[in-house]
Amino acid sequence: MRTVDDLQALLDEACRWARESARTGKVADYIPELAKADPALVGIAVHTMDGRVAASGDSETPFTLQSVSKVFALAALMKVAGMKALAGMPCEPSGDAFHSIVRLEEERGHPRNPLINAGAILVSSRLPGISPEEKAANVSGLLSDILGADVQVDDRVYRSESATGYRNRALANYMRHFGLLDDPRAACDAYFRQCALRMDAPALARVGLFLANGGTDPLSQHAVLPPACARAVLALMTTCGLYDQVGEFALSVGLPAKSAVSGAILAVVPGRMSIATYGPALGLKGNSVAGMAMLEFMAGELGLSLFG
Ligand code: GLN
Repeated sequence: MRTVDDLQALLDEACRWARESARTGKVADYIPELAKADPALVGIAVHTMDGRVAASGDSETPFTLQSVSKVFALAALMKVAGMKALAGMPCEPSGDAFHSIVRLEEERGHPRNPLINAGAILVSSRLPGISPEEKAANVSGLLSDILGADVQVDDRVYRSESATGYRNRALANYMRHFGLLDDPRAACDAYFRQCALRMDAPALARVGLFLANGGTDPLSQHAVLPPACARAVLALMTTCGLYDQVGEFALSVGLPAKSAVSGAILAVVPGRMSIATYGPALGLKGNSVAGMAMLEFMAGELGLSLFG
């Protein structure tokens, strides 16, 4: 087993190893602006609890958080509502694609969990604030506070998703029919804004670190979430974070993680570190192929799986 002492060498190897697999994926194109990403990009960054930082590959290329933002939106809601944020919200893996509508009909408009699109739209609609901008500002504010730098909405990606997000609007309208939210248009707008928040892999690893430390950022000692809420977020990432590929990911990596169609993945190693990967080429389930390969490599080399 290797140790974090050769972290840089490990990350360089992880990137080299993953470049090959990036060729097997395709960039997301249902949000037109995301289709412009270079599928060959591969980057990784790690932040350890004791303040070590390392990055490799195309780690300075910024990306939009997309579905990784769902973790921080849930955290922002838990900041004000605590565990009540999950009241009435099922927390079961869906076994369906991230944007699937099929279970909403079977389950009277209730999303299976807060990390699929329908559940995340509901979370965004419940954030404090009146306008969609104010709601999304809860998420950017949480991230900016940890980073000590402004996290901005990528306006092109936001507008691109807003112009084409029929499927998410269908989910929101469906939930409106069952009275789960008031204003489907505003709910989607808040959600599209949080999805378009932009950063690079080192920043993503940095903002995820509080989840490795029971909700308190280990570097600033700032309490972002109470421990029970941080534990709930990690449990949801473990069981629902990679949608209908979450079982395969549990076997190959064994860590709480959240993926995004921009090609980002945030993985958390409780008590040790957070890892952010970037590789816009996606597999059939909408998860980054290079990201999954890098995380499998890291988990194998450092023995990171939660399952021993
Ligand atoms: N904004 C994207 C969507 O709603 C996020 C999906 C994802 O990253 N899996 O379709």
